[in-house]
Amino acid sequence: MKLLLDSTRCQGYGLCQEQAPDLVELDEWGYAEVITLVVAPAAEESARACADSCPNAALRVEK
Ligand code: SF4
Repeated sequence: MKLLLDSTRCQGYGLCQEQAPDLVELDEWGYAEVITLVVAPAAEESARACADSCPNAALRVEK
């Protein structure tokens, strides 16, 4: 699974990072950056929660 970010949609709410601090970090302005593009099997549930948490649909998972 991959966790993909469309940074043009990110508004810096930070909810994704709260859901998955191991997968996403926030830059100095609060915008998301994906730490791990390829998600380990054990972190897939966390990646889905992370993507679902974004109010702007900036994150998605892809098999
Ligand atoms: S929740 Fe969405 S809009 Fe907010 S920082 Fe994360 S990717 Fe960006």
